[in-house]
Amino acid sequence: MIEYENLGKLNEPFFEEYEKSFHQSLTSGWYILGNNVRKFEDEFAGYCGSKYCVGVASGLDALIIALKSFNFEKDTEVIVPSNTYIATILSIVHLGLKPILVEPNINTYNIDPTKIEDKINKNTRAVMVVHLYGKACEMDKINDICKKNNLKLIEDCAQSHGATFKGQKTGTFGDFGCFSFYPTKNLGAIGDAGAITTNNENLFETIKKLRNYGSSVKYVNDLVGYNSRLDEVQAGFLSVKLKKLDEINKHKRTLADFYLSKLKDDFIKPQMDKDYFDVYHIFNIRHPKRDALRNYLLENNIKTEIHYPIPPHQQKAMDGVFKGNYPISEEIHKTTLSLPISFYHKEADIHQVIEVLNKFKG
Ligand SMILES: *Cc1c(COP(=O)(O)O)cnc(C)c1O
Repeated sequence: MIEYENLGKLNEPFFEEYEKSFHQSLTSGWYILGNNVRKFEDEFAGYCGSKYCVGVASGLDALIIALKSFNFEKDTEVIVPSNTYIATILSIVHLGLKPILVEPNINTYNIDPTKIEDKINKNTRAVMVVHLYGKACEMDKINDICKKNNLKLIEDCAQSHGATFKGQKTGTFGDFGCFSFYPTKNLGAIGDAGAITTNNENLFETIKKLRNYGSSVKYVNDLVGYNSRLDEVQAGFLSVKLKKLDEINKHKRTLADFYLSKLKDDFIKPQMDKDYFDVYHIFNIRHPKRDALRNYLLENNIKTEIHYPIPPHQQKAMDGVFKGNYPISEEIHKTTLSLPISFYHKEADIHQVIEVLNKFKG
């Protein structure tokens, strides 16, 4: 059986260092906002090439705290891609703001910059882009639109640790980069964790307070904050794994290269472009008979996933939130299939997947 993912095997190369790190955390006696968190924040800011980093409890919290820092008024609209993972949209809804969906480009799966300006009106204050599947968005065009229309820019980098556009890492283009370290992400913890990057000192001070009850001095509360702190133990693990993030991304890119060069053209493969350094959090193909293809692979002992089966505007939780049609998003959700591409997969595993796939008679 070729599994889609196996988190135990994925983390096995780090077990020894994790155990050392855990022992150090345990015996230090300092469990919240200590040296491990500060150290990881510095290292991760350095890795991304941003001035500041603030560790938080999850990717969703990173998005909520980033958005909250702008203190937008009630009728504010925030632009977001229609095919994102629901978390991006939830952050907007949780703050009582209005998410406005923009369709993706069918070739990149990322928000289509040519469709953003149509959705901007007097209530629009921000754009949240999502570097989906590990490919950066067209950040030059999006930055221009945001500057021209005086909009804040938040990047959802939950799937794009280390991905670049024209040589610049995601998480450094906008006001904020929001990261998740959920265990399956390219930089994954052993539980929930997240972080926010920024180059703006004032915003940095604000989000640092927001994650900690709105406080920077004990028992003095300046803002209506949250309890959303990156855990000392997870920060220790993340420092261990961050040293290997480039190696993890390189391995995934090698596996992706096999898929890209050897899979038949019956399958729609992700687009490649010299301006983008993709990190393949997910390697997706598209096929009109996606469900039959998935069953066929399972019969041949190959497990796959679907990212995602239901578009946000069709989720029950979003009843009444959106108007309009999102045909591109629906097409992607109907046809996309994610193939095995974990750090623990061997080249031979991928060759086997390719061999089986190329025999599919759809
Ligand atoms: C995983 C993910 C999130 C949420 O991260 P959590 O750490 O699970 O809260 C947000 N956005 C995208 C695009 C994601 O893939």
